[in-house]
Amino acid sequence: MKPARFYKEISKNKAVQCRLCSHYCLLKDGEIGLCRVRQNKDGKLYTLVYGYPVALNIDPVEKKPLFHFLPGSTAFSLGTYGCNFRCKNCQNYDISQATEVEEKTKHLKFFPPEEIVNAAQTQGTESIAYTYVEPTIFGEYALDIMKLAHERGLKNIWISNGFMSPEFLKELLPLVDAFNIDIKSFSNKFYQEVAGGRLQPVLENLKRIKKEGKHLEVTTLIIPTLSDDLKMLKSIAEFIFQELGPKTPWHISRFSGAISWQLKHLPSTKVETLQETKSLAEKVGLKFVYLGNVPGEGENTYCPKCGSLAIKRTGYSIQRFDDNGRCPGCGEDLNIVTA
Ligand code: SF4
Repeated sequence: MKPARFYKEISKNKAVQCRLCSHYCLLKDGEIGLCRVRQNKDGKLYTLVYGYPVALNIDPVEKKPLFHFLPGSTAFSLGTYGCNFRCKNCQNYDISQATEVEEKTKHLKFFPPEEIVNAAQTQGTESIAYTYVEPTIFGEYALDIMKLAHERGLKNIWISNGFMSPEFLKELLPLVDAFNIDIKSFSNKFYQEVAGGRLQPVLENLKRIKKEGKHLEVTTLIIPTLSDDLKMLKSIAEFIFQELGPKTPWHISRFSGAISWQLKHLPSTKVETLQETKSLAEKVGLKFVYLGNVPGEGENTYCPKCGSLAIKRTGYSIQRFDDNGRCPGCGEDLNIVTA
């Protein structure tokens, strides 16, 4: 257990307000935040997961998904227990929704930030990814790893629901090289009822990330009956086009009920729904729209200007034809970070 940052003490009754994410939990002495990994103990806030990753893997960067950032590279990926959302579709619910985290971490090995960075370097990955659950909830740990990673020439990748507080995002921005942020729906009702969050803070953070000039990709999981309304999906495409730019990659992914937390009764997304969404997004003006969890041409990168194939993807293996991020046919800039 380590003292937290990003909180303020409230003068009476040893209460504190956590300021790490946009829930801004008000916690009395002894209380634990909505994420279940931050606790007020005697008027001070503590993080229960600093140094205790529960998931550690080497993943292809394409799995994050990031298609326009160091294509073909690998990312040393980590996540802890806890999450500030309660998405009914969550696939990692065994760790994201875990309770009694302080007790559970007693059975985990302690990994100080240096050990994470050393392991990434030993394994030869180009980056470290903060992922699997919402990484904001282990923010202090992530910041310490990220600083060291940059000193040693590694990149940092942030895979997130975008619900962090603006003050935390301000510290994060100089240290993150690539973001993938979910826009789960363009309906605040969906955010409240299916995810346990709110839409507006996510949209504001996306604009802040874009303003900072960071590499940014967006993901939307299309869930039958809950987030498959084409008018709503068009609103997301328009937001990306207007606020984040036409070359922002948009990953629209297929939902599978069997692996979800509380939506096992729902069918998988129809491939036609994904294809319709892709074509309406392209009509809006988006240049790179990808179909996730649907093997085939929808995963490839084509030049939006001349149609040349720039990157062919088969699962997580890729063949590159681009010329250092430019179209092999006409030289168009494809918004690909190559180094
Ligand atoms: S990170 Fe968010 S959910 Fe967790 S205690 Fe802080 S404000 Fe609450």
